[in-house]
Amino acid sequence: MARVFNFSAGPAMLPEEVLKQAQAEMMDWNGSGMSVMEMSHRGKEFMSIAAEAEADLREVMVIPDNYKVLFLQGGASSQFAALPMNLLRGKSKADYINTGDWSKKAIAEAKRYCDVNIAATTDGGNFTSTPSQSELNLSADAAFVHYTPNETIRGVEFPYIPDTGDVPLVADLSSTILSRPIDVSRFGVIYAGAQKNIGPAGLTIVIIREDLIGEVIDGTPSMFNYQIAADNESMYNTPPTYGWYLAGLVFKWIKKNGGLKAMAELNERKAAKLYAAIDGSDFFANPVAAESRSWMNVPFTLVKPELDATFLEEAKKVGLTTLKGHRSLGGMRASIYNAMPEAGIDALVAFMADFEKRYG
Ligand SMILES: *Cc1c(COP(=O)(O)O)cnc(C)c1O
Repeated sequence: MARVFNFSAGPAMLPEEVLKQAQAEMMDWNGSGMSVMEMSHRGKEFMSIAAEAEADLREVMVIPDNYKVLFLQGGASSQFAALPMNLLRGKSKADYINTGDWSKKAIAEAKRYCDVNIAATTDGGNFTSTPSQSELNLSADAAFVHYTPNETIRGVEFPYIPDTGDVPLVADLSSTILSRPIDVSRFGVIYAGAQKNIGPAGLTIVIIREDLIGEVIDGTPSMFNYQIAADNESMYNTPPTYGWYLAGLVFKWIKKNGGLKAMAELNERKAAKLYAAIDGSDFFANPVAAESRSWMNVPFTLVKPELDATFLEEAKKVGLTTLKGHRSLGGMRASIYNAMPEAGIDALVAFMADFEKRYG
C-alpha cells in the first residue's frame, strides 16, 4: 500500500527521507555491523550519535550555552511531576496557566507537590482562546510559571510568550517544538514528548537553564532528578537509544530543509490553507479565536455530525487517515506537524470541498 497522509496527533508522521535512511541503516549502522538498537549506549558509535543529535538540536533551536539538553524517558507526562520536584527550590508555590486538557493534567500533578495558583484560565470560554498578558495573575513568590504554548487537543496556541519577569517560565512544547524559531532564552525550561514533532514515542526532551538545576524536594526519584540526568549526560540508566538516533535524523532533516525559519513558513502556509477551507464553508467549523489558532492541530466539526463516520470512512479510502477528533471532543482533528507535506493539506482541502458538494 502507498503511504498515506496521516493526520494523527501523535505518534505522528515522520519525514519519509528519515524513515528511508533508518531503513537503509537498520542492519548495519555506518559499518558497525549492527543496528543502532543493538548498540551499547556507552560505546563510541552510540556516543557519537547522541552527541551529534544534541549538537544539531542546539544548532537548529539556537539553544544558548547556559542550557542543558536532556534526553529522557517517561513522556511529557512524567515532567508534570519532575518539574515541581526540581524547580520549587525551597518555595511552595507555582503559577499555572490553564488553557485546556494538557494544562489541567500538569496542574493536577503539580498540586501533589505545591500550592498551585491558577494565573489565568480559559475554561469559561470552553478553552477556545488564550489569555492576554494583562489577564495573567502572576504571584511574586511563585517558584515558576507553567503554561502549554499549544494545546494539542483543542488546537489552541499562544500567539505570544508570556512575560514572567524574573520568575522562570516553563513550557510544555510537546506539540509545537521545532515548528518555528523560538527564543529559548525567554524560558527556564522547555520540555516535549518526542512523538509529535521530534521522532518516535519513548523519548522526552528537556531543555533547562543550568542555574535551575541542583535542588530537588525530598523523595525525588533519581530518574526524575535533572542534576543526575545532566551529570550523566542523560545516561544515568539506559537511554531510549533508537528514539534518540531517529530524533537526530529528524534534526538533520530540518537543517537540510532550511531550518526552523523554513519550517515556520511552510507550517504557517499549511495551516492558513486549512483554516481558509474551514472558514470559507458553511459545512465545516472551528471554534477557536482567530489569533489563538494552532498551526499544528486543527480541530473542526461538520454541521451534520451524523456524517462524521462517513467523512472518516471516505477520507480513509483516499489515503487521508486518523482525522477523528479527540475522544473527549468528537468531530475531526487534522494534526499537521513538520512532517506533513503541503500536498497532504491540499489533498485534505480538496476532499473536504468534494465531500461538502456531495453531502452539504
Ligand atoms: C501529547 C502531549 C502530552 C503528553 O505526552 P506524553 O509524552 O504522552 O506524556 C503532554 N502535553 C502536550 C501538550 C501534548 O501534546
